[in-house]
Amino acid sequence: MTDRIAHGFDHPSGHIPDDVDLVVVGLGVTGAGAALDAASRGLKVLAVDAHDVAFGTSRWSSKLVHGGLRYLAALQLGIAHESAVERGILMERTAPHLTRPLPWLLPLTSNVSFTQAALAAAGFGTGDLLRLSARTSRETLPRPRRVTRTEAQQLAPGLRSAGLRGGLINWDGQLEDDARLVTCLARTAASYGAHVHTRVRVLEATSTHVVLRDERTGATRTVRTRGVVNATGVWAGDLVEEVRLRPSRGTHLVLRADSIPGLRTVLTVPVPGSTSRFVFAIPQPEGTIYVGLTDEPVDGPIPDVPQPTEGEIGFLLDVLAPALERPVKRSDVVGAFAGLRPLLEADGSTADLSRKHAVLTSRTGVVTVVGGKLTTYRQMAEDAIDATGLTGIPCRTRDLPLLGAAPRDVLDQIDEPGRLVRRFGTEARYVIDEAVRATGLPEDELVAPGPGGVTLAELVFGVTHEGAADIDDLLDRRTRVGLVPEDRAAAVPLAQRALALTHATS
Ligand SMILES: Cc1cc2nc3c(=O)[nH]c(=O)nc-3n(C[C@H](O)[C@H](O)[C@H](O)COP(=O)(O)OP(=O)(O)OC[C@H]3O[C@@H](n4cnc5c(N)ncnc54)[C@H](O)[C@@H]3O)c2cc1C
Repeated sequence: MTDRIAHGFDHPSGHIPDDVDLVVVGLGVTGAGAALDAASRGLKVLAVDAHDVAFGTSRWSSKLVHGGLRYLAALQLGIAHESAVERGILMERTAPHLTRPLPWLLPLTSNVSFTQAALAAAGFGTGDLLRLSARTSRETLPRPRRVTRTEAQQLAPGLRSAGLRGGLINWDGQLEDDARLVTCLARTAASYGAHVHTRVRVLEATSTHVVLRDERTGATRTVRTRGVVNATGVWAGDLVEEVRLRPSRGTHLVLRADSIPGLRTVLTVPVPGSTSRFVFAIPQPEGTIYVGLTDEPVDGPIPDVPQPTEGEIGFLLDVLAPALERPVKRSDVVGAFAGLRPLLEADGSTADLSRKHAVLTSRTGVVTVVGGKLTTYRQMAEDAIDATGLTGIPCRTRDLPLLGAAPRDVLDQIDEPGRLVRRFGTEARYVIDEAVRATGLPEDELVAPGPGGVTLAELVFGVTHEGAADIDDLLDRRTRVGLVPEDRAAAVPLAQRALALTHATS
């Protein structure tokens, strides 16, 4: 491992080598995972993003590590097992610090018949068998069970009581923050020697060279390589013309926690008229709730930042309303975000390859890895690096802890601010020390919670160790204050201060 572990990844204006073994294009979860996989197998890696780490779909997810229950229902056993295995790897070995178990409540209301309830209970039981087959422990993900009406109301006090006869509880994984996972992957890749650069767009790629453009200066240059992995998600077809995508948009709402008071579980509400679609209200640790999810086909050019529509916002509120004693109003919605699923178009028809990932080698030898999901990024990365044929060294990432990872009992003992432990694990103290070193400010000031809970320490660390170059990087990707526009506006001065303090000392 190189001393980049102390330094973090390269500054946008840093050195880019002329000659590498592998170029990874795109620093979403897939590209960052591929960079780590390749670097940890000893390859010389250059990994770039046209914008920033986690600029694309990877920051707009539901922030869940799924066990693959819905794939079981569709009898896609292979994908279900793969999801369960990868969920276990993330939660128990590679990223316990960025993940946590999360209970899901299906309230048994008059809308859910006895037959539907029995089917759901059987499905949850099978999901538990998946957990077992993936060797994930019961301490990590407890057994699904039926709860009484009283317990259901304790877990979700806002539930409408009329017609409520109890609930079903199931367990799955939650991510602290999807963009945090990507940033941590990129830094871990850098700690194994990968050159990680943002604001560098790949204009052209073959298996022997890439043409890069520095997005700040417009300067272009060529880098020689022995292989290229195209991990550009919904933009994959721009780089490799054989790849054709038909994205679909998924929208989430952001509510303040008091909009559904006391919610301690994911609330699952069936979409009327559908047996397989649900709307979820997912509580977050910093006093918000995300409500999702829509599925709208998208035609035309791919936007940099997809926008939710009023129709989607209305749909989510309408499905949620009958489950609550006090329905959530449009005015309760303090933020909304949308992401595009990278669905692959095959032979004119649309195959939902966001479920199963695909690795495709183009005529020019570029390996494209697309589809899948956040949970399965590691397997996608492994398959992509294997497909390049660049090394006979086997993949190491199954047992490779990301920076800051430690067993849950060790994390529980760390006596640092909870937010920093949730976001940096064992590195929480390092983040504070580095921020003190860079700014000369007292620790109390650096860890004081600002708007949306954000601290100056993590913003400073974002600049000094995580390649953040501006306010957007800091508030929209290194932290997620940007998900609530009101909080974001209030946090801008703190981000400005972090930039000023670090530029003054660099
Ligand atoms: C609404 C929604 C919710 C989801 N929820 C979940 C969930 O809860 N759990 C889960 O497991 N999965 C979830 N998924 C799926 C998951 O988010 C995606 O599968 C995953 O994030 C895709 O990551 P990626 O790295 O392939 O693509 P992206 O994250 O889009 O990354 C591609 C990157 O490539 C860069 N790029 C593009 N072109 C170039 C170029 N020419 N040069 C350099 N860089 C370039 C972009 O800037 C971007 O950063 C969800 C998806 C959606 C849409």
